Amino acid sequence: MDAELLLAHVLDVPRTRLLTLDEVGDEAAARFAALLDLRTGRVPLQHLTGRAPFRHLELAVGPGVFVPRPETELLVEWALERLAGRPAPVVVDLGAGSGAIALSIAHEHPGGRVLAVERDAGAIEWTRHNAASRAAAGDRPVEVLAGDMTSPRLLTELDGAVDLVVSNPPYVPDGARVPREVADHDPPLALWGGPDGLDVVRGLLRTAARLLRPGGHLGIEHADQQGSALPTLVRGHGGFDDVADHPDLAGRPRFTTARRAAG
Ligand code: GLN
Repeated sequence: MDAELLLAHVLDVPRTRLLTLDEVGDEAAARFAALLDLRTGRVPLQHLTGRAPFRHLELAVGPGVFVPRPETELLVEWALERLAGRPAPVVVDLGAGSGAIALSIAHEHPGGRVLAVERDAGAIEWTRHNAASRAAAGDRPVEVLAGDMTSPRLLTELDGAVDLVVSNPPYVPDGARVPREVADHDPPLALWGGPDGLDVVRGLLRTAARLLRPGGHLGIEHADQQGSALPTLVRGHGGFDDVADHPDLAGRPRFTTARRAAG
């Protein structure tokens, strides 16, 4: 599959066109061979094509930004369901990376404000680039800002005014084994979350509790081993009701949701 996608990329044709292709020129064949070598060496496919499909969008990605994963598409699905019937919600994506979550919400929900927060100086270049492309394509502009999701000073002007906080934070426990293509090519800041993987999430919870209006929604992606740890952490934090955990398409625990309690 990856070989076909790379050949289609080199030839700039849809993958189905390969079925009816008779010949490939020398120059294209050489570029294809070079890409195959890189892929065999575990460079992510999306870094070789420079594109990552995510829901209805195709985002630019490359070294320095986390490649969006299909698991996260379900978190967006959940978020869109929470926003249904709200014409002008305020949505904050903490740790936006490529912008996959924020830009999908702006693309699929018709109104309101979407803010994308990213602290990694390299990654935010990709957030900005993708936000500019989507705005040029006619989507509602997403506000991109540099900031740390664990900071008590982040977005204080929106305290108590946010309808939805959503995040795919770094959650891999330090020392956990990750595939080589992840360890070598995704930015460390997007992956590692301290001894139990929940260090950044603890700060994120404080920020979310401060930003959300009563009744506002929180959705956080987590590792499949954190399907009871994160709900426990959210309950223990206080200030949230309706804590629930949701599986990904493979049936593994993947994200925790909650509502900001009233009062
Ligand atoms: N799911 C990611 C992986 O494949 C980890 C993402 C994260 O820490 N947010 O490694």
